[in-house]
Amino acid sequence: MPSIIQLLPDHVANQIAAGEVVQRPASVVKELLENAVDAGANDIKLILKDAGKSLVQVIDNGKGMSVTDARLCFERHATSKIRQAEDLFSLHTKGFRGEALASIAAIAHVEMKTKQDQEELGTHIVIEGSKFVSQEMAVLPKGTSFAVKNLFFNIPARRNFLKSDVVEYRHIVDEFQRVALAHPQIYFTFYHNGSEMFNLQASSFRQRIVNVFSGKTNEKLVPVNEETEIVNIQGFVCKPEFAKKNRGEQFFFVNDRFIKSGYLHHAVMAAYDGLLKDGAQPSYFLYLQVPPNSIDINIHPTKTEIKFDDESALYAILRASIKHSLGQFNVAPVLDFER
Ligand code: ADP
Ligand code: MG
Repeated sequence: MPSIIQLLPDHVANQIAAGEVVQRPASVVKELLENAVDAGANDIKLILKDAGKSLVQVIDNGKGMSVTDARLCFERHATSKIRQAEDLFSLHTKGFRGEALASIAAIAHVEMKTKQDQEELGTHIVIEGSKFVSQEMAVLPKGTSFAVKNLFFNIPARRNFLKSDVVEYRHIVDEFQRVALAHPQIYFTFYHNGSEMFNLQASSFRQRIVNVFSGKTNEKLVPVNEETEIVNIQGFVCKPEFAKKNRGEQFFFVNDRFIKSGYLHHAVMAAYDGLLKDGAQPSYFLYLQVPPNSIDINIHPTKTEIKFDDESALYAILRASIKHSLGQFNVAPVLDFER
C-alpha cells in the first residue's frame, strides 16, 4: 500500500497556526506591540483603520533587523529569543514561540520596514498570504514598522466572523492598555481612523495608570509594596468605596506580562473581606516580579495564563500585603446600616 501521509506545505501549516494565534485584529495588535517592546523600543506608535480590519500598524524605534533576519522573521518557529528548551525557564521577553509573524503573514498583506542603528540602509519587504512580493533596500529611520492590511483576506469565513468595529476596537483597546500599563517607561501613541486616542508619555506606574484611565483614578489608589524571597509585589489597589459594579480595571502583571488568574483574583478579594458592598469589584493594578524559573508561561498559546511553582504561598503573601495596605490607609469597613 502506498503511504497516504504527507507533510503540509509551509503556507498551509502557517494558515492553520494562524487560527490559534490570530483570532481578531486585537491579536495582531498584541503580537506587534510585544515584538516592539522586546526590541527595546522606548517610543511605540499604534495606527489603526476600521478597528484594525483594514490596517494595524506598529512603528517602533527599537533595534531593528538585519537584511537576513528581516526575511527570516516570517518563517515559522523562527525566533531570536530562545535557542534551547531550557531557555523557556529563564524568559525575559514577551515572545518566544516564533509563530506570530509567520501566522500574520499567512492571512494578511504585510509591509515591513526595518533598519538597525549602525546600518546605512534598511530593508523593505512586502509579503501577502505567506508569499514574498518584494524586497528592497530603503532609506529608513532606526527601528521597525509593520503594517498589516486586509486581515483574513484569504479566509472569508474568518473575516465574516469578525464583530462590529465597536466591539473589535474595544478588544484592541484592552490589549493596548495591558501593554501600556506594563511598560510606563515607554512612550505610546495610538491613532484610530486619523484621531489620536492615547498619548502616553513615559512616566511612573501611578501616572501611567492615571493617564490610561482618568485623572480621577489618582485619589482612588492605595499603594501596595511587598518584598519577599519568592515574590516582589508593587502596584495599587483601590479604596473600597470606589469599587465598581464590573471587573473592568483589574490587572495582574507577572514579570511585565499581563496575566489572568482566577486564583490570584480570589486572593485580592479575600483581602477586601468585609470592606466591599455585595458584588462590588475593586480596581487593582498589581505588578509581581518572580524568578523566571518559578513560572511556566508555555501553557497557553496567547500566554495570558501562567503556572506558578508555589501558588498557595503567593496567594497568602498577596492577600496579606493588600490587607496591610488597605488597613494602613485607614480604610473603614462598610457597616451594615450603610448598605
Ligand atoms: P517571537 O516574538 O516569538 O520571537 P515573532 O514571530 O513575533 O516571534 O517574531 C520573530 C522574530 O522577529 C523575533 O524573535 C525578533 O527577532 C524579530 N522581530 C519581530 N518584530 C521585531 C521588531 N519590532 N523589531 C526587531 N525585531 C523584531
Ligand atoms: Mg513575537
